[in-house]
Amino acid sequence: MRVDHPTISFEFFPPKSPEGEASLFAAISELDSISPNFVSITYGAGGSTRERTIKIACDIYEKTGYRTIAHLTCVGATKLEVHEILQQFEQAGITNILALRGDPAQGPAAPWVTTPGGFTHAEELVEMAQSFGSFEIGVAAFPDLHPAATGFDQGIEVLLRKEQLGATFAVTQFVFQPDSYSRLICELAERGSALTVYPGIMPVTSYRQFTRMLDMANGEIPDSMMAQFEKYRNDPDSTRELGIEIATRVSEEVLDAGAEGLHFYTLNSAKSTLEVVKRLGVRPAERA
Ligand SMILES: Cc1cc2nc3c(=O)[nH]c(=O)nc-3n(C[C@H](O)[C@H](O)[C@H](O)COP(=O)(O)OP(=O)(O)OC[C@H]3O[C@@H](n4cnc5c(N)ncnc54)[C@H](O)[C@@H]3O)c2cc1C
Repeated sequence: MRVDHPTISFEFFPPKSPEGEASLFAAISELDSISPNFVSITYGAGGSTRERTIKIACDIYEKTGYRTIAHLTCVGATKLEVHEILQQFEQAGITNILALRGDPAQGPAAPWVTTPGGFTHAEELVEMAQSFGSFEIGVAAFPDLHPAATGFDQGIEVLLRKEQLGATFAVTQFVFQPDSYSRLICELAERGSALTVYPGIMPVTSYRQFTRMLDMANGEIPDSMMAQFEKYRNDPDSTRELGIEIATRVSEEVLDAGAEGLHFYTLNSAKSTLEVVKRLGVRPAERA
């Protein structure tokens, strides 16, 4: 059943330059009209943006008061180092984290090699974060299966275990096949899970950037949809419009399937996300 006022939230990545930071804050100003329920800040591949993730998360929180979720991965770090980062988050007033394993440098399908003294699975990070007693913990979910998962049931088991260890919500990989999302939340509900699973919505704005992200995430998109994007690969305006149309359609379908909210992969830009929310005509839930 569809909720009356879905939550709306945004993912941003930590900019690399002062110009990038200025343009991120300009996008945040534009998006403020939607009054997001939360925003999340990614953690660079291989843990490369640790300081920037913390700084941007703190800056956004200070300037906007939004509930701000910092992503954290276990790549290339010992348990002791991860513990120190969690302490750093706590001291910086960041009380919401997305606890992730991260990917090997060769991509998500490459075999994971545990750093000596480090974690093997994200559930261990959930457990450590929970032991602080001060974090609200979210985790990653994969409606189209994680590339290394052995099957749908295993993905469900992993989420249930993370919930038992303290996670209260999950954010999904970008969704282009709403049926997969629907199947995931139905199965979790049947198994007694109370996890809120926010579907990741990506309004595609650039063919090259999109195909790179699909590759990096090993994401799934129906062939017919991919063919539509390919048709406009050298036509940025049509790509942007198609991205908005598809994101709007997918959003409608996941809301119909029972999603409590929509989490937009904004790529630090406001326009397409604003347009999707406008076309949906949703009035977002009040901020907590
Ligand atoms: C919403 C979202 C945000 C993300 N943000 C970032 C980011 O900011 N930075 C970044 O680097 N990456 C990010 N990622 C990518 C993510 O780190 C990778 O997809 C990673 O491969 C999986 O992370 P996980 O937390 O699900 O890992 P895990 O839960 O450890 O799962 C990894 C694999 O191991 C399997 N598995 C898990 N537990 C067990 C177990 N106990 N026994 C056997 N198998 C197990 C799972 O089925 C899966 O195949 C994000 C992904 C999503 C969906």
